[in-house]
Amino acid sequence: MAVKFKNTMNSTRQRALSALESREAVAFKGREGKISDYFACNVFTLDKMEKYLSRDVFQKVKAAIEGGTRIDRSIADQVAEGMKIWAIERGATHYTHWFQPLNELTAEKHDAFLEPDMNGGSFESFNGSLLVQQEPDASSFPSGGLRNTFEARGYSAWDPSSPAFIMDRTLCIPSIFISYNGEALDFKTPLLRSMAAVDRAAVEVCSLFNKDVTRVVPNLGWEQEYFLVDEALFASRPDLMQTGRTLMGHTAAKDQQLDDHYWGAIPERVMRFMEEFEEEAYKLGVPIKTRHNEAAPNQFECAPKYEECNIAVDHNLLLMSVMRKIAPKHHLKVLFHEKPFAGVNGSGKHCNWSLSTDTGVNLLAPGKNPKSNIRFLAFFVCVLKAAADHGSLIMASVASQGNSHRLGGNEAPPAVLSVFTGATMDAMLHSIEKSISADKMTPESKTAIKLHIGKIPEIMFDNTDRNRTSPFAFTGNRFEFRAPGASSNCAMPMIVLNTAMADSLEQFKKDVDALEAKGEKKDVAVLKVIRKFIVGSAKVRFEGNGYSAEWLAEAAKRGLKAHTVTAEAFKEYLTKDSVALFTSHKVLSKAELEARYEIKTETLLKKIQIESRVIVDMASNHIIPTAIKYQNLLIDNVRGIKEIFPDKVEEYAAKEIETLAKIAALTNRINESAVAMTNIRKRLNKIESIPERALRYEQEVSPNMLSLRKCIDDLEMIVDDEFWPLVKYREILATL
Ligand code: ADP
Ligand code: MG
Repeated sequence: MAVKFKNTMNSTRQRALSALESREAVAFKGREGKISDYFACNVFTLDKMEKYLSRDVFQKVKAAIEGGTRIDRSIADQVAEGMKIWAIERGATHYTHWFQPLNELTAEKHDAFLEPDMNGGSFESFNGSLLVQQEPDASSFPSGGLRNTFEARGYSAWDPSSPAFIMDRTLCIPSIFISYNGEALDFKTPLLRSMAAVDRAAVEVCSLFNKDVTRVVPNLGWEQEYFLVDEALFASRPDLMQTGRTLMGHTAAKDQQLDDHYWGAIPERVMRFMEEFEEEAYKLGVPIKTRHNEAAPNQFECAPKYEECNIAVDHNLLLMSVMRKIAPKHHLKVLFHEKPFAGVNGSGKHCNWSLSTDTGVNLLAPGKNPKSNIRFLAFFVCVLKAAADHGSLIMASVASQGNSHRLGGNEAPPAVLSVFTGATMDAMLHSIEKSISADKMTPESKTAIKLHIGKIPEIMFDNTDRNRTSPFAFTGNRFEFRAPGASSNCAMPMIVLNTAMADSLEQFKKDVDALEAKGEKKDVAVLKVIRKFIVGSAKVRFEGNGYSAEWLAEAAKRGLKAHTVTAEAFKEYLTKDSVALFTSHKVLSKAELEARYEIKTETLLKKIQIESRVIVDMASNHIIPTAIKYQNLLIDNVRGIKEIFPDKVEEYAAKEIETLAKIAALTNRINESAVAMTNIRKRLNKIESIPERALRYEQEVSPNMLSLRKCIDDLEMIVDDEFWPLVKYREILATL
């Protein structure tokens, strides 16, 4: 039941609060029966393909999907026909290529199946070429200079590894999006390339242990955090509407101090919303498993069972759009911004990442015998090396304007990458480092080491300690990357992780081969390289409190970069090391990296620009007029006192006079900041280079916004509550 508000005034804020008077949980009657009865009913899954395709075509498609190979163009027509029949049977009228342009959203342009014949009749048509490739007018998608607008051609091409699905009445075909020259204009293309890279390298390393592994896939299990606010309150705040976060607002006396929201009973309105969006998600095959209240008031989380990386990313984007769509039915607005409210926790999207084989083995989980444990260790130390070699790039992959407000805020890890391995693994790594000699190894010591390594699983089960302050933590059978922001496409961190891992694995294999070539036995060679990687990656391992100031100092000493300036973080994409990494594994070319860099800096610049305009607009049109109204009220009051008690003004109106002075000082400063803001922007807009301009916006405009905000928040504490035009934090964050 919503909290009931009674109010009689007529400001925007009061009107918004009035809307709450009649809020009830919106009834949602879910589908009868078990979820498994309708799970993925709107997805063209393998079992549906089997039904709608001929045996021969089905076998070919299945082999291509499972083997990660191309689908032969010659069967595309038959696949398209089967897909069309299935989709139309389920009520679809349109189809679209569904892709992920570089603006962090998804894109779709619907075409009807309908085709008029020449006799006044019509029929439904769809064929292989429409399935395989489309040519959307790409001129308005960000391309970072990869595609001139006059040559606006871009292609979307079917990604058979992610199944087609029906949203509303449209058949959506997951696709990549590339330029005329084949350069990636999206997230999916490099994600698929990075998956291929890590597959190649991991299979090679697996071959050191046994030959049956022919395919390795990275898995992703994301945890999506979000805020919900009542739609009326949302609509009353221009900052939330236009920037996704509040640019002003004094913290409420009570927010998350008592930890009474985390894992608390889910409010009824929210529960109905969750049930409805989850049902939609299940129909789309998104395997949601977990839902709970998060730490901040109005904050929640949901997480699915992990899936193959590419599908998990698609499912995350799908879920976000489903949530956006369902929320208004419950008079709610869902916020994915990383930091919608200052002073309470922000929202992340933890990415749980692991690698598994086509033989059913999780390569980041300890095995059942010494041999499989050595393989586990090999993969484990490769992750350490990837983090040590490319930590700054990994952090840069999650850098964004929104996330910069969250990282390092005593709620999320700082913007410096370290790895938490847990006490068991930490001890194991130290003992390996000590017990394996860099040069000679006796048969006895070899056996002893293997026995020791063989014990990992026994000591590790139920023993995976948690360290919530680490950005990258080993949690028993996977690594949890906690820095990604809630609104971002988590493909980017996955692309970087997969590629960095591919690089480590390739190096691992090369090093073992080199030792073997020198006459070392394979198992000894493997142990030695494991040791070498442990030693070489020591700087990135940190078991302590990642939120502490001491750690930041220590990290700096270790040479780990902390990117607190977003515009600087983006430069990691273009370092010599990063370019070499991405190009050598054929994940992103130099031009593609430059394009991403350009898009990211430009987006950063635009977001700060929009925020600074909004805050100045709100200061001038909402806050200052309110302050003046209240000032006048006080002035009248002081005048009245003077009239009645001419000799006692200073005594009787002392408080009012003091408040008047405070308001005058604050409004003055607000006016000054507003003028300064415009001047700074004018000056900075003359800077030609976008990256340079973005950096200076971040360094000059953002701090000015903060000081402006401080004055406004101080005013909020002084001005009569009835006058205050904006819905307050204590109202937005307490009314579900
Ligand atoms: P917690 O909040 O304790 O970290 P959650 O249950 O919220 O755990 O989320 C855990 C996520 O990790 C889920 O998405 C889950 O599917 C995922 N996960 C579990 N095992 C693996 C694995 N081997 N590889 C990748 N992700 C995994
Ligand atoms: Mg978690």
